[in-house]
Amino acid sequence: MRIAVIGTGYVGLVSAVGFAHLAGHEVICVDTDRELVDRINHGEPVLHESGLPELLREVIAAKKLRATTDYAEALANVELVLVCVGTPYLPNGAIDLCYVESAAKSIGAELVRSPNYVVVAVKSTVVPGTTEGLVLPLIELASGLRAGQGFGLAMTPEFLREGVALEDFLHPDRLVLGAYDDRSYSALEQLYAAHQVPKQRVNLRTAELTKYVANAYLALHISFANEIALLAERLGSIDVREVLEGVYLDKRHAPEIDGQRVQPQVLNYFVPNCGFGGSCLPKDVMALTHKSRELGFPPPLLDGITVINRKMPQHLVERVSAKLGGLRGVTVAVLGLAFKPGTDDVRESPALPIIQALVARGAYVHAIDPLAGAILNFKAAADNPERVEYFTSLADGLTGAAAALLVTPWPEFDVPAKDYAHALAGGALFFDGRCRRDPAEFTAAGLIYDGIGYAK
Ligand code: NAD
Repeated sequence: MRIAVIGTGYVGLVSAVGFAHLAGHEVICVDTDRELVDRINHGEPVLHESGLPELLREVIAAKKLRATTDYAEALANVELVLVCVGTPYLPNGAIDLCYVESAAKSIGAELVRSPNYVVVAVKSTVVPGTTEGLVLPLIELASGLRAGQGFGLAMTPEFLREGVALEDFLHPDRLVLGAYDDRSYSALEQLYAAHQVPKQRVNLRTAELTKYVANAYLALHISFANEIALLAERLGSIDVREVLEGVYLDKRHAPEIDGQRVQPQVLNYFVPNCGFGGSCLPKDVMALTHKSRELGFPPPLLDGITVINRKMPQHLVERVSAKLGGLRGVTVAVLGLAFKPGTDDVRESPALPIIQALVARGAYVHAIDPLAGAILNFKAAADNPERVEYFTSLADGLTGAAAALLVTPWPEFDVPAKDYAHALAGGALFFDGRCRRDPAEFTAAGLIYDGIGYAK
């Protein structure tokens, strides 16, 4: 198929490269950012994703992918357009659809000239009703064509995870295919012909809501675990991990298959931490909450997910401050700036409010991230606060610090406790913001261990 991919961020570029790699597709990418387009054409993606640079260079060399800023050039002879532009949130939590709107108008303007029945498929995460209520009329207005007659319309949400995005694209768990008409369903089936996974055929609105519910469900696990952690800390003499282990050893959570207890991956989300971040979970929960409120149903449970999540970075700083007897003049090493391991993306990373709060309370911060790209992105997002020094090496960043705060669970930070003791000052604090490390190991190494949900 000849495919145009609109927006070449994490989802757009990974999808474009992935489809170009699969037999039978040719891809042209469109982005309004000239620098991104030039970088793609030179085989140098600006974002960090494992395996992406190699595959990008391969599909460019095979002439199966190129990029442009020109919609007319991109849409001249395509059969399918994938809309992958960003859908950030507004200050009130509502979804900001300005990029979707502008893409829909530009696509519509080009469809007038197209000899094909072009199917426009939305891949961006959009609140239920957007594809039919906004994208459809904008394209009809700009093109003078009718949906289902002059062009097709579809919505197929993306579930890839940053850090393992290419792998997720090539081997998804399932595909949700929402379409306006039968020809659009057929186009989606052709698009995903190589993906031998369950394919769910639904209407546009169901596809849109499925994506939000999938993310809200994961976020719910984290915020529930965090609420229990906050309670455990007040009760005292409890390590919340022991409580949660006792819960998920229930066979309804961790069934026995062929004589072995199996721990479903979703339980990885049922673990307290210093807050979830990234460009998806926080904004998607807020957008769904806002949509629900707009419909006259303020959703108490969805509201609670965000309320608890926002508390966690501040809570971590308060716990650390209490343990150290204040933060003024104290050097604190913050381990991790990216919102999760495997990526340089710092959008909504808990490291942002944590470092801001540490600095506001007078601390000096050694900000450590193994990826130089994450440090660059963090500096841009954090307005480069004073009293923050940046390190890619764990040992260098720990040197001279009175406390180490585990924020992003990079494998690079999983070194033995004795290595922490070696680099930190004697009797220093290791504060586990991820419920990841063994308290006894740190105590034995001569450090003070503390963490979210740990009250022993
Ligand atoms: P992003 O911000 O990384 O990239 C969006 C790109 O769109 C940018 O390069 C921007 O320049 C471009 N753009 C904006 N307006 C444009 C226009 N009118 N024409 C052409 N290009 C335009 O976004 P992302 O993280 O890739 O997310 C894209 C969508 O996918 C969002 O709705 C997001 O919620 C969803 N999503 C993201 C992820 C993820 O892990 N990042 C996973 C699943 C779904």
